[in-house]
Amino acid sequence: MKKIHYDSLIYFNIITIFPEIFDALIRYGIIGKAIQKKIINITFLNLRDFSQNKYKSIDDRPYGGGAGMLMSFEPLYLAIQYAKSLFKYSTVIYLSPQGKIFQQKDIKKLITKKKIIFICGRYEGIDQRIIDDQVDEEWSIGDYILSGGELAAMVMIDAISRLIPGVIKTQKSIQEDSFSNNLLDFPHYTRPGTIKEMSVPNVLLSGNHQKIRLWRLQQSLGQTWIKRPDLLKDKILSKEEKKLLYDFKKKNKKKYV
Ligand code: SAM
Repeated sequence: MKKIHYDSLIYFNIITIFPEIFDALIRYGIIGKAIQKKIINITFLNLRDFSQNKYKSIDDRPYGGGAGMLMSFEPLYLAIQYAKSLFKYSTVIYLSPQGKIFQQKDIKKLITKKKIIFICGRYEGIDQRIIDDQVDEEWSIGDYILSGGELAAMVMIDAISRLIPGVIKTQKSIQEDSFSNNLLDFPHYTRPGTIKEMSVPNVLLSGNHQKIRLWRLQQSLGQTWIKRPDLLKDKILSKEEKKLLYDFKKKNKKKYV
């Protein structure tokens, strides 16, 4: 097992039968860099190493019959105890389609946990007694069924890590990302200024920072109104935002209503 650096800002410990699935996540991009910089720490426990039988099996048939296999209590229990011995006071999360649906607004609270053990289920899932006895929280990444919890763990790790200070250089871009402040992001453009007769909005070329700020805020409000009106229901708009949205709606009424 790799040496653990106890100076990282967040520790993820993953219990899985397929640690190799995480190779891409830990080697590339923002997460790869954050691991190199020791801002985040990801450790893997292969569940088969905790199997007590010579075949290294970790699953069995479900009581009551039915299709599919189930991950057994014992290897999971032993793996969790081992993970807890490495990372004291960890929160144990079972990735499950029956869990609370993971959203951007949940991340701040999850970061405060600091040490998270993710259990990645496979087959028909895991023995209920692990959930009852060992799991602190169940999280789902959406209303669909994955073959295993590994993809869900990667989704959560990526989304959580982005908000850890130092992982992304420009904190401002994080604040403007979709779902911060219950708004979607505004449209972005880069060179060239005109492509197939489509030009970049003039205001973005004006150099007038106040006008650009207002245009971007209006676009964020407008895009949210068009694509995700449900987000606006939970948002208290300032006077300025109300006016910008009102004007946007007036201008785009024919197009979208
Ligand atoms: N029989 C289970 C049920 O219907 O609730 C589904 C088992 S699923 C095929 C196998 C594993 O994938 C689960 O134990 C869980 O760890 C993971 N999984 C599947 N869908 C998920 C989702 N939407 N979010 C998080 N984890 C999921």
